[in-house]
Amino acid sequence: MIIYKTEEEIELMKQAAIVVSKTLGEVAKLITPGVTGLQLDKLAEEHIRDLGAIPGFLGLYDFPNTLCISPNAEIVHGIPSNKPYEDGDIVSVDCGAILNGFYGDHAYTFEVGDVAPEIKKLLKVTKESLYLGIEATKVGNRISDIGYAIQNHAESHGYGVVRELVGHGIGRTMHEDPQVPNYGKRGRGKKIQNGLTIAIEPMINMGTEKINQLDDGWTILTGDNLPSAHFEHDVAVVDGKPVILSTFDYIDEVLGNK
Ligand code: MG
Ligand code: MG
Repeated sequence: MIIYKTEEEIELMKQAAIVVSKTLGEVAKLITPGVTGLQLDKLAEEHIRDLGAIPGFLGLYDFPNTLCISPNAEIVHGIPSNKPYEDGDIVSVDCGAILNGFYGDHAYTFEVGDVAPEIKKLLKVTKESLYLGIEATKVGNRISDIGYAIQNHAESHGYGVVRELVGHGIGRTMHEDPQVPNYGKRGRGKKIQNGLTIAIEPMINMGTEKINQLDDGWTILTGDNLPSAHFEHDVAVVDGKPVILSTFDYIDEVLGNK
């Protein structure tokens, strides 16, 4: 059952999403060759608590950390480790926080040092596919129109769209109805209505769409060990149109993007 939110609840959700956005901005400052996932995780937990919020992933389904950190061929749900990142790595950082009783859930794939042009392109196309999915999140469309937009763009570049993991409704719990796949045919699923709040999160692989899981029970990685990218925003539908609750502005400011 989809839980539609009032405009007041959406405002509270935006504040939770911004905690995550600011935290990813702090991650952006630190993520350079030599830094470890555990260092980023500690920074993120402290920052979330400093903002008066609670880490959203820590303990959720027994996940052990504040951040899911998934470098290179890891797609999502990677556990922060002591292994330093190296020049040329890409690192997907997914973060959740609880504020006002609502969850924020938001992810970005960072470049570490000098990244190869073909990998930079994977990141660019994945981010573009996220925004195309967001554009499709409007009254008059159905849920599958979001995945159609994402899949169409990613596959036009020859990339693989992960099937097993999907976006989701978000609110007072991290994962609510509906599921929001990153693939699909047009015009299927529930009609998009005002008050819908979802996390849209394309996971796009440079090669095969097939996945593997590490025996840590968490880490999902690509079937061919080629890189994967992951960008995620929280989105609400207000007055028929998508409103992005999270923002990459804090990251872009640190990285000098735009
Ligand atoms: Mg996430
Ligand atoms: Mg999510």
